[in-house]
Amino acid sequence: MDAQPTLLNQMIAAGHLVPTGVDGLYGRSGVFEDVIARFEALVTEVGKDDGAEVLRFPPAITRTLLQTSGYMKSFPQLAGTVHSFCGGDGDHAALLAKIDAGEDWTKDQCCTDVALTPAACYPLYPMLAAQGTLPDEGRLFDVQSYCFRHEPSADPARMQLFRMREYVRAGTPDQVQAFRAQWLERAKELIAKLGLPFDVVPANDPFFGRAGKMMKLSQREQGLKLEMVIPVANAQPTACLSFNYHQDHFASTWGVRLADGSLAHTGCVGFGLERLALALFKHHGLDVQGWPSGVRGLLWG
Ligand code: AMP
Ligand code: ZN
Repeated sequence: MDAQPTLLNQMIAAGHLVPTGVDGLYGRSGVFEDVIARFEALVTEVGKDDGAEVLRFPPAITRTLLQTSGYMKSFPQLAGTVHSFCGGDGDHAALLAKIDAGEDWTKDQCCTDVALTPAACYPLYPMLAAQGTLPDEGRLFDVQSYCFRHEPSADPARMQLFRMREYVRAGTPDQVQAFRAQWLERAKELIAKLGLPFDVVPANDPFFGRAGKMMKLSQREQGLKLEMVIPVANAQPTACLSFNYHQDHFASTWGVRLADGSLAHTGCVGFGLERLALALFKHHGLDVQGWPSGVRGLLWG
């Protein structure tokens, strides 16, 4: 008996994902993109009365930002830096000779000032700090970006380049916790209406190494990260949304302060857009025309 085709193979066969030869790096069909656009429009509709400041950054941050944020301390295995050729004519000839000979040419590349964005909210914190003390009501942002994480995998829900839509709140602890609680309820309602089975579970970020074990434990114990998990391509359900309470982690790193001079707190809710699109295809079928009318109505109304 033939093995069941994997969701990745089904998505490729249907033309929704285009393989590139590298795990986790795919082209997307117009239909796949439309599902993401419609889903994002729903999210925007849910949050429309909150007055979020909309910002879009390119999928890159400065290398300084990557360093200062502590990303290399916590997640060096996931980080991506951009390298380029920085030599002269002689170096160029040597580069081409190495490529012709099938030798490794990458060691001669120099690291640029640019790194790939690991999470959509990262560019916000230094900007917030530079813009001065927060107003009494705090601030709220709507960001979206392609993000890079070096975690090649045959699981279509674990991509190396994927989009994250986020709402990010900065303010007092109460303001940030209320924001997170509100989005948790909104997300449950939205995902249920889209006909997707889900659970909300305590989670942790993939902190690196032995020191990271403690960080994982403490993040879980304090309930700082919750994930909404949905069955996608594995036996284990996949985290499709994250609800993160950073306390003053980013504010102390960058110097984001409240009017009284104390450190602000921040939190973010992140929608993994490719994962949510994959979940919709998994549960409702590869042909969007055949999706339940309620789901179609909600997305394409
Ligand atoms: P995180 O910052 O890890 O909480 O990620 C925020 C959201 O991005 C997660 O809830 C996922 O939905 C999504 N996400 C994280 N890593 C990946 C990945 N490798 N591929 C696709 N989506 C991802
Ligand atoms: Zn975030």
